[in-house]
Amino acid sequence: MDTVSADTPEQIQLPIGPSGAPEMPAQVTPPPSTEPEASDKPAQSARAGAPRGATPPAAASAPRPAPAAPARSEDRIPARIVLALQGVTKSYPNGRVALRGVDLTVPDGDFVFLVGPSGAGKSTVIKLLIREEIPTKGSVLLDGRDLARIKRREVPKIRRKIGIVFQDFKLLPNLTVRQNVAFALEVIGTPHREIASAVDRSLRVVGLVNQADQLPSQLSGGEQQRTAIARALVHNPRLFIADEPTGNLDPLISWEIIQLLLRINEMGVTVLMATHNAEVVTAVRKRVVALEDGRIVRDQTAAAYEREA
Ligand code: ADP
Repeated sequence: MDTVSADTPEQIQLPIGPSGAPEMPAQVTPPPSTEPEASDKPAQSARAGAPRGATPPAAASAPRPAPAAPARSEDRIPARIVLALQGVTKSYPNGRVALRGVDLTVPDGDFVFLVGPSGAGKSTVIKLLIREEIPTKGSVLLDGRDLARIKRREVPKIRRKIGIVFQDFKLLPNLTVRQNVAFALEVIGTPHREIASAVDRSLRVVGLVNQADQLPSQLSGGEQQRTAIARALVHNPRLFIADEPTGNLDPLISWEIIQLLLRINEMGVTVLMATHNAEVVTAVRKRVVALEDGRIVRDQTAAAYEREA
């Protein structure tokens, strides 16, 4: 069981945003059980916006930086598009049609919950984004590049724009936390001298400095997911994808993970999270894209998990 107060990073200085500039630590507010704030800035404003987020009750005792002034709408600058699906249809070889004419645009700094029942097409969207699949019709653009048209040797470079975490963490069991995170840089040929400091920064963001030399089996589920998040962040991705990241975690720990994703988003990273966690989605009031039977049936900012009257 990990606690928020033990691991919450005091100060985050990771230059993790696409700009490479140091970003602000998160400010945190509503617990999951309370009524969420009605207002939220439009998703597009996240990069220019002030830090905000959410804290579970357990974090109440942890010291927090003073709140920054909220962003004013007139301060916002038009965001670049990180990802775009244009008329995407995906049929699998067995004839199953997973996506039907999907259009989706996600600007830089956005935080998007991708929701929908099992079989709606959420995983297929993610597979298209990491180019595990290519569309049958239409195009998928990441940072302006059509993923179906890039050359095979360019695929690893494009994938580096993405950090991804899964429900089952996918950590290497025989490597320590630090080694798991470092591995993500080693496989892409990062110079050795750069790895240690990048890993340290990433571990500070997720609050796991003190567990750096432990093996995954010596960690709680929440700590394992934070290790996976540190690994996904260490190469400064443009887009952070979380595929049902709280699916194996209890509610309090799930809330901790969501806070961390909100903080990462506030540092400038665009976040796309596929989830069934209705409580969390409704509490944080971010953009919600709902899929049903391969179609987007709702795309709403500051939204709840379910359509509201
Ligand atoms: P979700 O993630 O929302 O549960 P998926 O994207 O996994 O939805 O699945 C959407 C549809 O595509 C489902 O009908 C599923 O059975 C089908 N599907 C997914 N992957 C494959 C595959 N590799 N081969 C055939 N059908 C698939």
